[in-house]
Amino acid sequence: MARQKIVAGNWKMNKTIAEGEALATEVKNIEIPKGVKVVICTPFTNLATTHKIIKKKRHLHLGAQNMHEANSGAYTGEISADMLLACGTEYVILGHSERRQYFNEGDELLAAKVNKALEKGLTPIFCCGEPLEIREAGTHVKFVESQLKASLFHLSEADFQKVIIAYEPIWAIGTGKTASSEQAQDMHAALRKFLGKQYGKRIAGKTSILYGGSCNAKNAKEIFGQPDVDGGLIGGASLIAADFSVIVNAF
Ligand code: PEP
Repeated sequence: MARQKIVAGNWKMNKTIAEGEALATEVKNIEIPKGVKVVICTPFTNLATTHKIIKKKRHLHLGAQNMHEANSGAYTGEISADMLLACGTEYVILGHSERRQYFNEGDELLAAKVNKALEKGLTPIFCCGEPLEIREAGTHVKFVESQLKASLFHLSEADFQKVIIAYEPIWAIGTGKTASSEQAQDMHAALRKFLGKQYGKRIAGKTSILYGGSCNAKNAKEIFGQPDVDGGLIGGASLIAADFSVIVNAF
């Protein structure tokens, strides 16, 4: 079976409810090609309203950008998996480099979040990726492998197969400096090989690995054309429906 192709939009901290409704309505009208799944990951405040707009559209799904690892309780300002589910959320981005960098989210905490998401039936979009100095030192493969190992490799085969991986080199996120298609392919192939050592070739061969980092309407086709790239996690360009539409159709 071919791997699932996925384009996920990460709206980050953008869009009021009214602005989000307008964008979701435009996204709903995008023609989604056969075999592609689209996920829009909105701010928490937009989840319920976005769900109302997109719920009947096939192959268009709702995602969140973070969640807490506990069921409920005294965690002021946090959001639980059940709260996400109640808004119609199916996916959750975990381990985005902005969460790791600005909110000190580390491997162990992310492992706990992955566990909670899976326990509750949410699909994690697990982000990994190296900073520029690690890329320049040439140790990027080892660096990203250690992120995967630390937060995912405790999972059973059955659980691991529910996870989507997003490789996002930090130096390419929001910088306009995308990885070359060759750099993306090399990394995705290396990561798939690494997953194969832990979970076997068959499961690694079925795992969707998305590329993220300044992917846009101009470069998506070349990046998605690489054999081990199964789609993208799109930040800035997911806020412009016309660009997002081109990316969704870039396979
Ligand atoms: C992201 O936020 O995951 C991302 C890839 O952002 P951008 O596309 O803006 O680089």
